[in-house]
Amino acid sequence: MRVRFAPSPTGYLHIGNARTAVINYIIAKKYNAEYIIRIEDTDKERSTKESEISILQDLKWLGINWTEGPDMDKGHGPYRQSERDHIYKEYTDRLLKSGHGFRCFCSREQVEEDKAKAMAENKPFHDRCRNMPLAEQERLAAEGKEFTVKFKVPENTEISFDDKIKGTVTFNSDNIGGDFIIVRSDGGPVYNYIVIIDDALMEVTHVIRGEDHLSNTPKQILIAKALDLPVPEYAHLPLILGSDKKKLSKRHGITSVDLYKQEGYLPEALMNYLGLLGWSTESGEELLEFERLVELFELENIGKSPAVFDFQKLKWMNGAYLKKYPLDKVTEMFIPYIKAAGFETLPERSKLEDIISALRNSCEILSDISKFIGIFLNEINEPDEETDSHLKEDYAIDIIKICNELIEQITPDEISSFISKVKEKSPHKGKKLFHPIRAIVTGRLSGPELDIVIPIIGFDKLKKRIKYAYSRYC
Ligand code: GLU
Repeated sequence: MRVRFAPSPTGYLHIGNARTAVINYIIAKKYNAEYIIRIEDTDKERSTKESEISILQDLKWLGINWTEGPDMDKGHGPYRQSERDHIYKEYTDRLLKSGHGFRCFCSREQVEEDKAKAMAENKPFHDRCRNMPLAEQERLAAEGKEFTVKFKVPENTEISFDDKIKGTVTFNSDNIGGDFIIVRSDGGPVYNYIVIIDDALMEVTHVIRGEDHLSNTPKQILIAKALDLPVPEYAHLPLILGSDKKKLSKRHGITSVDLYKQEGYLPEALMNYLGLLGWSTESGEELLEFERLVELFELENIGKSPAVFDFQKLKWMNGAYLKKYPLDKVTEMFIPYIKAAGFETLPERSKLEDIISALRNSCEILSDISKFIGIFLNEINEPDEETDSHLKEDYAIDIIKICNELIEQITPDEISSFISKVKEKSPHKGKKLFHPIRAIVTGRLSGPELDIVIPIIGFDKLKKRIKYAYSRYC
């Protein structure tokens, strides 16, 4: 079995395409298949080397290890369509000779006009050059007349294939819209033509791709038949929609894999989420590490209807992965995000691990750390607006005064009993006691347990923060 992922290098790796790549990877692992990367760079204007590099990097980051591709030729290369022109030329010659293809010398306007006329007369559209003898085509071409090469679509022919997700799909060739261009006037072959040649020559057995390609499939099958090439098995994955049931776009949330990486999503979580999109396990189990996904996944599991991308769920899933990893591993992961939050100098390792241990449960993605890290690393945390108005309340001022007295009386090794000492002296209980302490110590009304925060920040910082609150509010 051989599968492939065939990105067009015209931008970043979109989350929808990443899902196609992930599903292909799960299938490859499940059935021990080869996984081919083919770069579909026929759009010369929009394709860039940078895009190819970044797509391949993102696939690697996700954990996808292909077995053949532009960097790993196993005898089926080249793996970039732009480097395969000599191959396509040979097939174009064959199509022209067999009469399945023809040179069309009409201008675009002429074709549009003829199409409109056929439509008005309710007749099927046939290209004027469709039946021009080959010798005549060659003569005109030799004269230097500009032409495109078109595929001669057979009339009223049923094209049917069994899609592993959609079931049996049947098209009539009359609905294809007439003979279509396979080689543009500049000599560049089009996607729908060469994709099936490449799939055949690369011996791809299963084409798993987005449903947006479903309507291209009959054209590709017709070409395969005309060239006597094998037709692969197909599985078309339903589209991914945003919460408003519209095509997933930047309006809904992050759509680029690279941005997920930057925000601190873990590849394992993204792989899990994308692999589980559009189906569910019998037990309702959702946290599926890659091996488990491979074990449970079948293409047939995927529903026929579009899947809605749930950004919150992905975040939750990411948080769950973050909680699972050993402390030293997550500490390493958080370090760049702590630095990016402006804390270049980090505390010693054991203290850093204590901090991460206190904060990891409050973070769903690695960049969330920026909201909390200041609690530990800043000297003083300016209260935010909500905390500020809270600290102005009479009961909060009582607590500030008590803290201010106590901090002068205790020694640094008594700091772990600081809260219980405040409690003993306080006329207030519950929220009116704990909210102000938290606000004084952290500048926030929520966050990690104070019993954990105080010993980590230590006596000096605690004292500084109390003095600051005292000078500001009392
Ligand atoms: N290059 C196409 C795309 O990026 C994929 C074509 C295919 O999978 O057949 O949409």
